[in-house]
Amino acid sequence: MSRTLPVNKNDYIDVVFEDITHDGAGVAKVEGYPLFIPNGLPGEKAKIKVIKTGKGYGIGRLIEIYEKSPYRVDIPSEEKHKYGGCQLEHISYKGQLKYKENQVRQVLTRIGKLEDVVVHPILGMEEPFHYRNKAQVPVGEKDGKLIAGFFKQRSHEIVDTNESLIQLPEVNEAVKVVKEICSELGIPAYQEESHKGVLRHIMARYGKQTEELMVVIITRTTDLPQKNKLVEEMVARLPKLKSIVHNVNSKRTNVIIGEKTNVLWGNEVIYDYIGDVKFAISTLSFYQVNPVQTKVLYDKALEYANLSGEENVIDAYCGIGTISLFLAQKAKKVFGVEVVPEAIEDAKRNAELNEITNAEFAAGEAEVVIPKWYKEGNTADVLVVDPPRKGCDEALLQTIIEMKPKKVVYVSCNPGTLARDLRILEDGGYRTVEVQPVDMFPMTTHVECCAWLERK
Ligand code: SAH
Repeated sequence: MSRTLPVNKNDYIDVVFEDITHDGAGVAKVEGYPLFIPNGLPGEKAKIKVIKTGKGYGIGRLIEIYEKSPYRVDIPSEEKHKYGGCQLEHISYKGQLKYKENQVRQVLTRIGKLEDVVVHPILGMEEPFHYRNKAQVPVGEKDGKLIAGFFKQRSHEIVDTNESLIQLPEVNEAVKVVKEICSELGIPAYQEESHKGVLRHIMARYGKQTEELMVVIITRTTDLPQKNKLVEEMVARLPKLKSIVHNVNSKRTNVIIGEKTNVLWGNEVIYDYIGDVKFAISTLSFYQVNPVQTKVLYDKALEYANLSGEENVIDAYCGIGTISLFLAQKAKKVFGVEVVPEAIEDAKRNAELNEITNAEFAAGEAEVVIPKWYKEGNTADVLVVDPPRKGCDEALLQTIIEMKPKKVVYVSCNPGTLARDLRILEDGGYRTVEVQPVDMFPMTTHVECCAWLERK
């Protein structure tokens, strides 16, 4: 027998928000039935309209707020439109930090069953705007005009804008200029529905310390019309430009970067510094987007690793060797593993660039390479992992448990999978000593953490 729900579609009801979801919606409960309402903040009393009801939960729309949260900041609705990806822009920065810190604590308890783990206050930014060193802007066409900006939340409609609250001004400027040039030259925009047209995305990456700019033009077709003119104009109008890359993505897909990459002008890479370490960054390699907070995060990882110079260290999911080279300055030897071969090429080049001779890098999946090393008799005293959102592969966690490194430092961009993996490591003989959340992505719902584990 199906249970009747306490609310119906199209009902107008008064609620008090109790919580906020991981994607920034307010949560209210009616007789235990949860309703998710975008834009609602914990503690607020409001009138909402129920717009959808499902078995387990419903969705509503905010109609009127009777009592505002002290953390709410008012943003005119047209403005709000401008800032793609900023799910938390209606919350003061202090409120955002509080929300993220609470989320980490809750998830570690609920999913990780880590009742008494020490979670430090989150490390936030002094200036939480215009921090991103990278933009990837979708291009489309509206009324015969080339548009570019960001996708509206949960849609593929492009909002045409040159503004972003969170990107560095140099990145915003690069996108704006390239967009103007493409429009002037009549380069046809990609049409997602019919899979026709040319220009899919404009990507810009900027080395904040070196002031070097890379622009990647991503097209559906191998042919880039007006290529020479485009390059000439970009070079003339963007003084910080060091590299122009053409990438071809011919597939019907949401993935931005495609299979073929070709340097059109300048260098293959741009450079940047984190602390004293210099990094070469190529088109396909992962590089942290918030250079200021990256230093904070890596310093924490280094502190937790607590190296004396005698240790063998493994850095799994090492990207271009950022954490590895940071650690190599204090370790006997560091071994980095990463699945993207181009990133491993960058990592090797980065070691040379910094005259670091005690770091080695291998391309492959961490869950394949590290078990293989272990079988060959190679172990580590300290093991660092920094996996993507889905967390560590089970096979890797099992190898860690068997290998028994004294210390594990877990850098994570997803508290949910961090909690899951910490539980597995705890059950396998590790103790989570402490967790440090770091706000790498102000205005967005993302939370980064660094966790320190010791072998029991
Ligand atoms: N530690 C680096 C990169 C972290 S991002 C830094 O801070 O810059 C996660 C990295 O894991 C990405 O570079 C991604 O390409 C890589 N990756 C994803 N799946 C992997 C796997 N199964 N094995 C090894 N690396 C993987």
